[in-house]
Amino acid sequence: MPQPSKSEPLQTRPTGRHGPNGPGRRRIEGEIPVPRLINWLSIGALPVLAFFAYRAADRGDTLVTGSLVTAASLLLLNALAYLVLRRPTMHRRTFIVLIALLFVYVATAALEDGSAIIWLFAYPPIIFYISTPRIGILSCALGLTALAALFSPLGDTLFNTPYSDSFRLMMINVLAFEMVSCYLLDLSRRRSKASLLTLAAEHEYAAKHDVMTGLTNRREGLVRLEGEYQRYLRNRQAFSVILMDIDLFKGINDTFGHHAGDALIVMVADKLREGCRRIDIVSRWGGEEFLAILPETRVDEATHMAERIRAAVASSSIELDGTPVAASISAGVASIHGAESTSRLLQRADEALYTAKATGRNQVCSGNVPSQDSA
Ligand code: GH3
Ligand code: MG
Ligand code: MG
Repeated sequence: MPQPSKSEPLQTRPTGRHGPNGPGRRRIEGEIPVPRLINWLSIGALPVLAFFAYRAADRGDTLVTGSLVTAASLLLLNALAYLVLRRPTMHRRTFIVLIALLFVYVATAALEDGSAIIWLFAYPPIIFYISTPRIGILSCALGLTALAALFSPLGDTLFNTPYSDSFRLMMINVLAFEMVSCYLLDLSRRRSKASLLTLAAEHEYAAKHDVMTGLTNRREGLVRLEGEYQRYLRNRQAFSVILMDIDLFKGINDTFGHHAGDALIVMVADKLREGCRRIDIVSRWGGEEFLAILPETRVDEATHMAERIRAAVASSSIELDGTPVAASISAGVASIHGAESTSRLLQRADEALYTAKATGRNQVCSGNVPSQDSA
């Protein structure tokens, strides 16, 4: 894979393996966003909590009714707060705390004759999905320890729960098994996601770049040209293009072979990168043609840059079996003018390049400003 070039800072490179925007934080298509999942779960919990609150009220157990209604209200409030404030971290943390407290209450109060403790099995998959593996492991370990404490003689003294010994044993073992399974499944999900994102980034990079030079390809060059044009239409800050072509390249191929021609193309691409600024976009436009898009650059500045690049290429050579092979380039420069289209701009750059070729090669020519009717 070509090395990053200083002229391509804005272009997508495969970044899936590292960095703060690495795979862990990016989403893939089809994946449910965490805030939406939390809100769905919160909304889904409302009828369940309301149903059991109603049953408790029916039995005259106002404490349970009050607790379940409070839990439902807080979950709803958290969901609404997210919709207004859009603070995902606060939303997620509050949800984790709320469901942890709810599960502790369900287990210690032994709701529904103790059978409600089975809801604890909902905790591991949720926590692993909505938080990091570290938080998942930590909260599962804490939950399991708390459950073991509840089932211990100390827990019996404090809460007087009706769970049988065999149920306690089964509950702890099955929950621990579920937690490990959830961790492993989540690990596999995260790894698949990371490799998918890396693959997508590599494909995106390959679709936009020329494999030989590492420059953007013609398709991406056109996209970037359109982007620059749209910016120009908004702020009226003219940009320029330089269209470059290696001189008498066919002869170089015929004399030294195709591999020498390839090496020269790479050398010219390197000189282009070196001669352009970070904000410029340099594309391999065709076989031995290149296009540089220079944002917010006047035609005289662009011509100066093109001249520098031309001189750099002219004074360089590649070594082929001990023999230096050199090449020169011709360039046509044009700056966007009035309301002309990008194709008209490219046409003017091409005409300037043609003039440079026709009047001796190894030189830079700048395009004429279009006449009033073509602008
Ligand atoms: P001019 O100065 O007028 O541009 O002459 P030229 O010989 O450079 O122009 P022409 O367009 O006739 O030749 C371009 C040559 O570039 C023809 C083609 O075989 C060669 N070429 C195109 N792509 C590649 C490539 O990737 N590698 C190599 N080695 N040659 C290529
Ligand atoms: Mg050519
Ligand atoms: Mg040529």
